[in-house]
Amino acid sequence: MTIGILGGGISGLSLAYFLGSDYEILEKNKNCGGLCTTFEKNGFLYDIGGHIIFSSDKDILNFEVELMGDKVEKRRRSNKIWYKGRFVKYPFENGLHALDKEEIVECIKDYLQNNNLKPTNLKEWFLYTFGNAISEKYMLPYNEKIWKIDPALMGMEWVERIPKPPVEDVIKSAIGIETEGYTHQLYFYYPKTGGFQTLIKTFEEKLNNIHRNEEVASIEKINDKWKVETNKGIYNYEDLVSTLPIFELVKILKIKIPPEVLKAIQNLRYNSMAVVLVGLNKVKHEDLTAIYVPDKESPAHRYCFSSGFSKSLSPEGCSSIFAEITFNSHVLKEEIASQKIIDKTVWWLTKEGFIDKNDVCETDIKYIKYAYPVYDLNYTKNIKIIYDYFDSIKLHLLGRFAQFIYINSDVCIKNAKALANKLKQGVKGVKI
Ligand SMILES: Cc1cc2nc3c(=O)[nH]c(=O)nc-3n(C[C@H](O)[C@H](O)[C@H](O)COP(=O)(O)OP(=O)(O)OC[C@H]3O[C@@H](n4cnc5c(N)ncnc54)[C@H](O)[C@@H]3O)c2cc1C
Repeated sequence: MTIGILGGGISGLSLAYFLGSDYEILEKNKNCGGLCTTFEKNGFLYDIGGHIIFSSDKDILNFEVELMGDKVEKRRRSNKIWYKGRFVKYPFENGLHALDKEEIVECIKDYLQNNNLKPTNLKEWFLYTFGNAISEKYMLPYNEKIWKIDPALMGMEWVERIPKPPVEDVIKSAIGIETEGYTHQLYFYYPKTGGFQTLIKTFEEKLNNIHRNEEVASIEKINDKWKVETNKGIYNYEDLVSTLPIFELVKILKIKIPPEVLKAIQNLRYNSMAVVLVGLNKVKHEDLTAIYVPDKESPAHRYCFSSGFSKSLSPEGCSSIFAEITFNSHVLKEEIASQKIIDKTVWWLTKEGFIDKNDVCETDIKYIKYAYPVYDLNYTKNIKIIYDYFDSIKLHLLGRFAQFIYINSDVCIKNAKALANKLKQGVKGVKI
């Protein structure tokens, strides 16, 4: 085969799909999927946090929906913020009416009379965009929870993902007129059965040459060709695409990497995540997809409700909640007490009235080492050094932790399509 694809997550699989032929995928696990994996415990299915099929790119969304055919259904988002013991419509600026009257006045006054200076970091961007009150009540505490770093130490590369609300909508929301924010996610698609991983399985059905249980152990470049060694054998390729987390790639790359490149990689910051499953012996919260929780007492920043995604995620008559809890990457798995995290999650859900702890019939926890790339203030500088280097050795990087960008699977697919077109034209080592 001419093109070697390392890793069988959505990036690797969709690249293979767009290439059509002449590729080989090497995936270390027995199942493909990576971050799009769905776990199972005694009939309860749960994804790595809330995973939905959506995109602001209509072509990619249509492609995904057509690919899935009758395996997906369209659903309406019902996300809420849980703020001081009450629901506020998501996103926060579209739900101000739910706050106390004094708080509404505070939010609107600060939003309209906003003297914050042009931003240079994420914290300043929130203050500049939403004003002090909205930022301090929700934006900053929520973002501190998810990123585990002071937003003042984060760059603004990430904020292009956050749609800015029209002033009119914020005012309307304050006086109780319904408005919708983040409309590109208002309706989403979700597999009818099998959880989010059904998207992965749909790609797999259309592909050949996937080698599962093959962990790439070393990569060499010999006479302009790539030699890849796995636990099972040796492969030679003309072109190589890595979707492996960049940190894992440099461990197995048998090329002398310049120290400044290694340093740039070491300086990238990421968060790990625990996903906690709480299975209930009742169907609950059919009208909710997720809640976002800025409150420090809550272990998770987000809780997803299986009934809002698909009934097929739980056994008949049951439902579940899955909680997303981020950690700084330096917190080792051994240091995390799994049972304590599960207990705290159940405690908080019970305390806030989302569950009765006597209804809990199943729990589980999974750790995801590479969950969120964190855009700190040196992100752009580091990423440029890294991209320039991999471009110079003509090794293609593709995917969330290979390119180290905060992207969802829709953008992974879009990038894979762009790379496939370039590879088909024989263009080597080009950044996508
Ligand atoms: C909490 C959370 C919520 C998300 N929500 C959504 C959402 O709602 N919608 C959405 O579209 N996206 C969502 N995403 C993003 C989405 O999951 C990722 O963008 C996407 O899955 C990344 O795919 P990838 O193929 O680039 O990387 P990965 O999925 O990380 O794939 C890399 C693959 O490489 C394999 N690998 C690693 N090392 C080796 C080795 N040495 N040899 C061989 N193989 C190896 C891994 O096993 C893995 O299969 C979410 C992500 C998170 C963390």
